[in-house]
Amino acid sequence: MDLGIAGRKAIVGGASAGLGKACALSLARAGVELTIVARTQANIEAAAAEIRSATGVRVTPVAVDINSDEGRAEILTACPEPDIVVNNSGGPPTGNFRDWDRKAWADALNGSMLGAVFMIKDVVDGMIARKFGRIVNITSHSVKAPIPILGLSNSARLGLTGFVAGVAREVAKHNVTINNLLPGEFDTERHRSNTRAMAKLQNKTYEEARAARMSQIAAGRFGTPEEFGEICAFICGLPAAYITGQNLLIDGGKYPGTF
Ligand code: NAP
Repeated sequence: MDLGIAGRKAIVGGASAGLGKACALSLARAGVELTIVARTQANIEAAAAEIRSATGVRVTPVAVDINSDEGRAEILTACPEPDIVVNNSGGPPTGNFRDWDRKAWADALNGSMLGAVFMIKDVVDGMIARKFGRIVNITSHSVKAPIPILGLSNSARLGLTGFVAGVAREVAKHNVTINNLLPGEFDTERHRSNTRAMAKLQNKTYEEARAARMSQIAAGRFGTPEEFGEICAFICGLPAAYITGQNLLIDGGKYPGTF
C-alpha cells in the first residue's frame, strides 16, 4: 500500500532498539526522512547506519534524552519542521508503590507523560500551519488494564492519554492526527527485563515467567517489533487521515474485553 508520505520528515524517539527502531524502519521504507533519537550515541548512530543502508533514506541520529527540555531543543534544531513525530522512550521501572518517593513519581510523570506533552506543544502549531501532521505516542496496554509491578506506568501514561483525548479533537480539522499505540507484549529488551523482574518476584525461572506471560495471550505468542512498526507507519500515512484521538491496542487478543 502506498502510504503517501514519501519525502515527509519524521522524528522518532527511542529508536536505537525495540519498538521505536521498528517504527523508524517502517517509516523509512515508506520514504520518510528521519531524525532518530536515543541517549546512547554509539547505538543511535548504528541504528541510523542500518536504516540508511536498508532503505536509502536520509537519517540523522541525535543522542539525547528526549524527555528533557535540552534534548527536545536539540532534536528540534535537527528537524525544525517535522510532519510526523513518534513519541517514545523507555518505560518507568518496575516495583512496589510503597517504595516510590516523590522523585520516583516525578521521573515517571516526566518520562511517560510530560516529555510527550511538551513535544506535542512544540510541534503541533507548525503542523497546523502546514496543514499536515501525524503524532503517535507509544504508551502501553497498562492504560487498559493495570500491570501489577508497573504502577508508575499504569498511572503516568493515563495522564498522557487524557491530554491526547482533548488536544486531538482540537487539531483534527487541520489534518493533524494524534493517536496512541498501546503495545501488549512485544519481544524487546524492555519486555525481557520486565520478565526478569517478574520471575524474581514470583520465584520462577526466567523461562517459566516468559511461558506464563505467553500463555495469557490469545495469539499464543509475543508480537514482533516489525509488526508494531508497520502499524505505526500506517497510522502516519494518508489512508489513516480519519483516525484520531484513538488508543489502538496491539496485543494479540490478550485483553479480554469486548471493547
Ligand atoms: P527497549 O527495547 O528497551 O528500547 C527502548 C529505546 O528507547 C532504546 O532505543 C533506548 O535507548 C531509548 N530510550 C530510553 N529512554 C530514552 C530517553 N529518555 N530518551 C531517548 N531515548 C530513550 O523498549 P521497547 O520495548 O521498545 O519499549 C518502548 C516503549 O514501549 C517503552 O515506553 C515501554 O515501556 C513501552 N511498552 C513496551 C512493551 C513491550 O512489550 N515491549 C509493552 C508495553 C509498553 P537508550 O537507552 O540508549 O536511550
